[in-house]
Amino acid sequence: MEITGACNLRCRMCLVRYAPAVGRGEGALDLEEFLELVDSLPHLRKLTLQGLGEPLLSPHLLEMVSHAAARGARVGFSTNGTLLDGATAERLIAAGLSWLHVSLDGATAATYEDVRHGTALRPRPGQFERVMANLRGLIRAARRGLIEPARAGGVRGHAPQRGRARAARGARRRDRHR
Ligand code: SF4
Repeated sequence: MEITGACNLRCRMCLVRYAPAVGRGEGALDLEEFLELVDSLPHLRKLTLQGLGEPLLSPHLLEMVSHAAARGARVGFSTNGTLLDGATAERLIAAGLSWLHVSLDGATAATYEDVRHGTALRPRPGQFERVMANLRGLIRAARRGLIEPARAGGVRGHAPQRGRARAARGARRRDRHR
């Protein structure tokens, strides 16, 4: 399911580079529409939040992950990793993210930056190192996410967040039916 058509990069091989730019607001899938779509799929087991855009630009990403995870789906997406700071990684894991693919398209800074251009259609020096730092933060956050449930005797470390998300969804549904 494509949750945003917006992207903060213009990679050489991608259609996004050659199509008219899509703004963050105009490219975002509406949250209510997402909830209705997901709830219309009773046998949903896996959900990929992916289209042509960068999912971390969706203003509703955390709620979408939380809702799909609460429905029992293995939810994840592919990202270019440039916006995946440590706090964002922590929040995604707490929301119930099951898997994540990070696209690099280059094992060295020179190769990477020659492919992964910014919106000015030019390399962004230093971006490879920023993404690598984000990956290290993601791994640290994932390890904490795996360790905490064991310490809590099998209770998932992010249960309170899920509880809040469920409560919020319940309130939204009640509002819809008023
Ligand atoms: S980051 Fe992904 S969606 Fe964005 S331009 Fe590059 S390949 Fe396309």
